[in-house]
Amino acid sequence: MRVRFAPSPSGQLHVGNARTALFNWLLARGSGGAFILRIEDTDVERSTPESEATIFRDMRWLGLDWDEGPDVGGARGPYRASERLHLYQSYATELLNAGAAYYCFCSTERLEEERRAAVAAGRPALYAGTCRQIPPREAEARIHAGQPAAVRFRVPENREVVFTDVVRGDVRFHTDVIGDPVIMRPGGMPAYNFAVVIDDALMAVTHVVRGEDHISNTPRQILMYEALGFPLPEFAHLAIVLGPDHTKLSKRHGATSVAERRLKGYLPEALVNYLALIGWSPGGGDELLPIHELAKRFSLSDVVSAAGVFDEEKLAWVNRHYLKMAEPARLAELTLPFFRAAGFEMAPDAIGVEFLASVVPVASGVVDRLDQVPARLSFLFAYDPAMALTDEHVRGEMRAEGARSVVHALAEVLAGAPRLDRDGFRAAANEVKAKTGQKGKALFHPIRVALTGRTEGPELDLAIPAIDRGAELPPDAGLPKILGCRERAAAFVQSLG
Ligand code: GLU
Repeated sequence: MRVRFAPSPSGQLHVGNARTALFNWLLARGSGGAFILRIEDTDVERSTPESEATIFRDMRWLGLDWDEGPDVGGARGPYRASERLHLYQSYATELLNAGAAYYCFCSTERLEEERRAAVAAGRPALYAGTCRQIPPREAEARIHAGQPAAVRFRVPENREVVFTDVVRGDVRFHTDVIGDPVIMRPGGMPAYNFAVVIDDALMAVTHVVRGEDHISNTPRQILMYEALGFPLPEFAHLAIVLGPDHTKLSKRHGATSVAERRLKGYLPEALVNYLALIGWSPGGGDELLPIHELAKRFSLSDVVSAAGVFDEEKLAWVNRHYLKMAEPARLAELTLPFFRAAGFEMAPDAIGVEFLASVVPVASGVVDRLDQVPARLSFLFAYDPAMALTDEHVRGEMRAEGARSVVHALAEVLAGAPRLDRDGFRAAANEVKAKTGQKGKALFHPIRVALTGRTEGPELDLAIPAIDRGAELPPDAGLPKILGCRERAAAFVQSLG
């Protein structure tokens, strides 16, 4: 099995296209076949090298590696359409010589006029066939005289093109509704419908798996395969991905590119797993499976033909699962850009990373995305009691009966205590309880407020030891300074006045 993903490099990798790439990848990896990345960059106006680079980057980030492609090469390259122009030219000549294609000298204005007239008359806007009957020798003479011309494919009359789409079943088109398509533009660039046939055939692609927006192109392509004597591949058209309002997923629905998802803190394995579940189910009752397991189970015939809706809640659920599974050290590295974006200067060394790895799971187990982690851990790096005391919630907690006595007792107890681990914290809390007679919320709320500067946050059993481990970090660990609990309690009392 040889499959391909053939993006046009004109913008970011859209999640819908990433799903197409993923399904191709799953097929290749599940069957021991080859996955080809081909860049369709013949639309000179819209194609950019930057876009190509972002496609490579995002595919790699998702873990969708390719066996053949512009950067890795392969036996059937080149893998950039713009480097294959000689091939398109030579096959176009072959079709011209066989009479299966002809030169078209119609001007853009004329074609546009015809199109408008057809639409006004309620007819399909097909090419009128003006240049179909020009004798080849006359056409050659006009070309030699320098007249600009496109090359059109001669669509056979009165035929039905039928193919069995792996996802959608039998699909039929009558050639009456297919106008002769341009295959080479006047400037020498191929049209998509032509280039894709040459490329898929010469690259020996066995299964063309792509978005259903290409279904009406398929009969044209099949006719070209026939005219060129190429064997037909299987076709599978994947239903489009819709937004929650059941219109095509677009910017209006939020983050539509893979890059935006990465920047919001989704893990690649979560996005991959989620995308695989749009329109397909691995069966066996489990949906949360690593990519290689998905590949083992994937089958095109199980892909549904109905459109899938992009479900943010489900993606969040899948991401939470992978956040809980991820290695702490990896999470620490992945979270750094989010801390920096939140204004924390961080360039941790090995010790700093080790510390972050010990604290990030405290937050990553309860958030949907990595971009929510810094806010949950800011109590470590940004402690400011005077500022905290300007917050209405904090003031409210401190107005509660006995709250001030708890905080004073805490400062006294901690003044002589070593750094707190979990047991040390429990012992200190018990001492405060004995000194003040406060317990439960009346004890722990003021303690939380005094030691974290916040009314909410992770369990104190986790938060407090984290603060005091942080306080022991060497100054050159590359993290913002963390004030210890002893110092925090004293500072809080002072700020209380
Ligand atoms: N460049 C086309 C697209 O991005 C590829 C279509 C195909 O796979 O044939 O839609």
